[in-house]
Amino acid sequence: MDDSSYQQLLDEIAKADAVIVGIGPDLSEAVGLALKGGSRAFDERFSDFANDFFLRSIEQGERFKWTRPENKWAFTARLLQYLRDSEPGQPYADLVRLLEGKEFFALTPNSDGLAARALGDERVAMLRGDYRWLQCEKGCTDRVYPSEGYIDELVANTSGCAIPSELVPTCPECGRPLTPWVYGYEFLEGEHHKQQFERWNAFLEKNINSKIVFLQVGAGMKNQEYLKLPFWNMTMQHPDAFYVAIEKQAAFAPPEIEDKALTFEGDIAAILHRAASFE
Ligand SMILES: [Zn+2]
Repeated sequence: MDDSSYQQLLDEIAKADAVIVGIGPDLSEAVGLALKGGSRAFDERFSDFANDFFLRSIEQGERFKWTRPENKWAFTARLLQYLRDSEPGQPYADLVRLLEGKEFFALTPNSDGLAARALGDERVAMLRGDYRWLQCEKGCTDRVYPSEGYIDELVANTSGCAIPSELVPTCPECGRPLTPWVYGYEFLEGEHHKQQFERWNAFLEKNINSKIVFLQVGAGMKNQEYLKLPFWNMTMQHPDAFYVAIEKQAAFAPPEIEDKALTFEGDIAAILHRAASFE
């Protein structure tokens, strides 16, 4: 990418009345979060689960069919602790700098909470849930509960990949175990979810017919339906919309919008940093 692309990116953001940001898993990876595959974080924090449950990555643990809540919660508490310890870091600081003074709203299928911590909960809709919240396993109530208060006690009381039964977090309504409020077959699309969507819809309604930039960062190869397709469609439909993709690989804009699109491909952290510090 040459200087003129960075200049154009800054110009488009400067001209825009609003920016809609789409944040995908490859931005978390650029920050250093290692959920997929083997990693130092996995070896340091989950070696007991690697031995006893043959897990090879954090992601495998997230999808594992735990049969006992004592094991599930030992793993989950460790995961919540890892996410809490992970900082949004320089890539998010650069993104914040790019958005400085702008009306913006962000959408993300990431459940790690980094986007909300960096950009503010009020300006982020977490499309596939949020590990910072728990829900009833059976969804007996619309309520969600903060996960933060459980982490340290459960981690401290883990032994042999299990926590004591009496420490399993339970639903105050029905007494069944709580589970992270993240996408899965029992994912609760209740009041908390609705509030995020109401904020998103209000933002979209207010800004969609003004000059708007869709800024997609690290959507990656999966999750097309959450970020890429809606961004492409809205850019096609609205004459004043502009589309930007910052991707590790395969940054792409469909031919229909190529005259109002800009793509950056490569090291996401480096691209954001260069854009944020471009003079
Ligand atoms: Zn319940």
